[in-house]
Amino acid sequence: MHKSQADIIDRAKQLREELLEPNASRWESEQRQPVEDLRVAISEGFAALDLAPELGGLGISFTEKLRVCEELARGCFAFTFSLINTGNIAAKMAESHSPLHRNHIPALISGEILGATALTEPGAGSDFAAIKTLATETRGGWLLNGTKAWITNTEIADLFVTYVQTDPAKGWKGIACFVIDARKEGFRRGEIYKLMGGSAIGAGEFHLENYFVSEDDLLAPPIEAFKGAMELINGARAYVAAMCCGVMQSSLDHALAYGVERESFGRPVIDHQGLRWSLVDVATDIEALRALTFQAGAYIDSGEDACFPAAYAKKFAGRAAVPAITACIQAMGANGLKRQFPLGRHLACAKIAAYTDGSTEMMNERIGAGLVSGFQ
Ligand SMILES: Cc1cc2nc3c(=O)[nH]c(=O)nc-3n(C[C@H](O)[C@H](O)[C@H](O)COP(=O)(O)OP(=O)(O)OC[C@H]3O[C@@H](n4cnc5c(N)ncnc54)[C@H](O)[C@@H]3O)c2cc1C
Repeated sequence: MHKSQADIIDRAKQLREELLEPNASRWESEQRQPVEDLRVAISEGFAALDLAPELGGLGISFTEKLRVCEELARGCFAFTFSLINTGNIAAKMAESHSPLHRNHIPALISGEILGATALTEPGAGSDFAAIKTLATETRGGWLLNGTKAWITNTEIADLFVTYVQTDPAKGWKGIACFVIDARKEGFRRGEIYKLMGGSAIGAGEFHLENYFVSEDDLLAPPIEAFKGAMELINGARAYVAAMCCGVMQSSLDHALAYGVERESFGRPVIDHQGLRWSLVDVATDIEALRALTFQAGAYIDSGEDACFPAAYAKKFAGRAAVPAITACIQAMGANGLKRQFPLGRHLACAKIAAYTDGSTEMMNERIGAGLVSGFQ
């Protein structure tokens, strides 16, 4: 696959126009993951965007991956989020030195199998170190027991990169990371949540019941696992921010199109200064969010610590996206409420974005700790 970055962005736009925009509303009403359509996108390399070409990836920079995320999320945040999440598993396998893990890459980037990442549990979200899924040593490995919750792609994934506690007395230092295969004994899919939107994310629960893992399934041992998760989350925060740019831009485009067409008091509604200024605020927030998002991307591409840039972008996304989309709905009058427009879907996903990969409050905690220590 030798495509230029410009070709990939163009193809993302085409995919949005031909696949995501025409189908996203149906995916939402069917309340299931559109696995066949997901495989169409994967077959074109969209689950291998920043994977090295020698491993079958497209090899684009992280910043360009952010552009793809924004482009696709303009059509459907939920589909894009699911797609990027399965792609992340291929990238994670590529980091492993184990040939057994790397052998999963071709199937993951062709869409033959799908992936997910599992940190959260019913009793532990923001406080990741408090997870309770337990690894107990047994002959030749460990037995895993516990429940994971709110996991993207639970409905369809085959491989789950899963974080478990090996020694509760050690807190975060006891957490290890394993590759779990949903097709093996001891794995049971649980509830798939019915949410106010974002159904294509397929968030739900799975249970591990005496699921056996050996040394071969160990992706990262304690300490390394927690630190690795914290590093990866910076990228995740940046692409969630990019997806928020997408839903905000799409909402603004619809509001502008309506404002030019619709008249009140003898002129297009966009010509009323009060309304126009509300959309100027939205446009300004999109520009600001993009700048923060691409700044985080630049840090990631240069290998610098992206902790604070990613937290700023994600925090701003969590604060700006919901009011921006509601302003766009308001600008369209009652018509903005109709399902023929994507704004309601976008609004639900903007709310989802305020939790995924760390809530807005956790971004405050992160940034606040940096302010206090003078560490930014
Ligand atoms: C659609 C969707 C998909 C997801 N996908 C995944 C996935 O693929 N993998 C995965 O592991 N997880 C996933 N998550 C889970 C997500 O990471 C968690 O929702 C997030 O970490 C917050 O945890 P929580 O929802 O349990 O909130 P809680 O931790 O219960 O927090 C409740 C509220 O308290 C606030 N809060 C908590 N602690 C503090 C504090 N110290 N100071 C101030 N406020 C605080 C939180 O911000 C939140 O507003 C997903 C979530 C959603 C909604």
